[in-house]
Amino acid sequence: MFEECPRAYKFKYIDKIRVKKRQNVYGFLGSIVHETLEEFHKDLKKGKKYSLEGLIELYSKLWNEKWKESIKVSHPDHNPDHFKKVGGQCIKNYYEKLSPFNKDETVKTELRVHPTIKKDGKEYNFQGLIDRLAIDKKGQYIIHDYKTGKNLPSRTDLIKNRQLPLYQIGVQQKYTFSENIVLAWHYLRFGEIIKIEFDKENLDSIRRDIIDLIQIIEEAKEENNFPAMREKGANCGWCDYQKICQEWKPHSGNEGFKPNQSQQKLEYFL
Ligand code: SF4
Repeated sequence: MFEECPRAYKFKYIDKIRVKKRQNVYGFLGSIVHETLEEFHKDLKKGKKYSLEGLIELYSKLWNEKWKESIKVSHPDHNPDHFKKVGGQCIKNYYEKLSPFNKDETVKTELRVHPTIKKDGKEYNFQGLIDRLAIDKKGQYIIHDYKTGKNLPSRTDLIKNRQLPLYQIGVQQKYTFSENIVLAWHYLRFGEIIKIEFDKENLDSIRRDIIDLIQIIEEAKEENNFPAMREKGANCGWCDYQKICQEWKPHSGNEGFKPNQSQQKLEYFL
């Protein structure tokens, strides 16, 4: 977040401003697809395997049970049904791509990890949620991450990604025996899986990048310098802080927002 808009980072992590969020259809679609695949793999681990039709039915049931009229559908041409179909297609693509599901075994779904990076006697703590950690027949661990977004990045883009390598560090710290790990990004709308292995050198480089970024954040804190990046690439249309951001529109008061000063933490969210 800091790299996209330091001002938004300040609102969230320095000022700890609480925002009453209105869920949008993209977030909802992602959460229902994730929940469906979590159920699927939990059941598979217990020996129950859904058919494709059964899994689509589960997805549809979860969607119908959880859908609320208050969910924002900010698309001029599409209604909620369109997005429901997109999610259904994600499930179908996943199923068809991985069936018969015998390449690996699930260790855990929705696994919370707490990677730590140390530098000059300081310890920096992070947290992340792995969609599915699995192990294959050769004993290699795989971190699976589900994406339901509209963009399909290249391998080159993903090599610069820090999220999954950081999860890898977390897994290696939790399961010390897990030396070799494959990172698997599932771009569900496209039925594409991109797999990358980060070796020790790659991970050290990611660690250095993260430490550099933390130092930049610390300097920003000292100088109280958190520029707003509207017009410079920030995704303001999706920002939770539009109502209080001077750059978005004239300040309209702080209704619905309140700082939470009781939470002083050392955790970093990048
Ligand atoms: S509205 Fe745009 S400029 Fe303002 S905090 Fe959000 S992302 Fe940054």
